[in-house]
Amino acid sequence: MDCIFCGIVRGEVGAQVVREDTDTVAFRDLNPQAPVHVLVIPRQHVASVNDVGENQRAVLGGLIIAARAVAQAEGLAESGYRLVLNAGADAGLTVSHIHLHVLGGRAMRWPPG
Ligand code: 5GP
Ligand code: ZN
Repeated sequence: MDCIFCGIVRGEVGAQVVREDTDTVAFRDLNPQAPVHVLVIPRQHVASVNDVGENQRAVLGGLIIAARAVAQAEGLAESGYRLVLNAGADAGLTVSHIHLHVLGGRAMRWPPG
């Protein structure tokens, strides 16, 4: 399967990895949209949140727990941060391996663009 994020999980595609655990890998986004922009992905290939089955709740839980740890390590826990999970074309999904964006280090606007 030709998935760039699976390549990062396997160590075949270079990335600035900031955190790893048994279920997730977190690395800096190639095109950061904030001073801190980290992507947290499951090691397991899941195409999008639409494809998370009822028996895979732990996949989503693991992403949020890992994202929280990244935010803490990056010094964002107090100042605040945003977690973004895009699904489908209207949300701007470009990579079909589920990923949670951790954005912080600047004030965010709402609603998002
Ligand atoms: P999406 O729009 O699908 O939610 O976000 C995909 C994100 O992955 C984008 O922010 C993009 O900059 C990032 N990205 C795409 N390819 C790579 C890559 O090969 N390495 C890294 N570090 N980030 C990537
Ligand atoms: Zn993948």
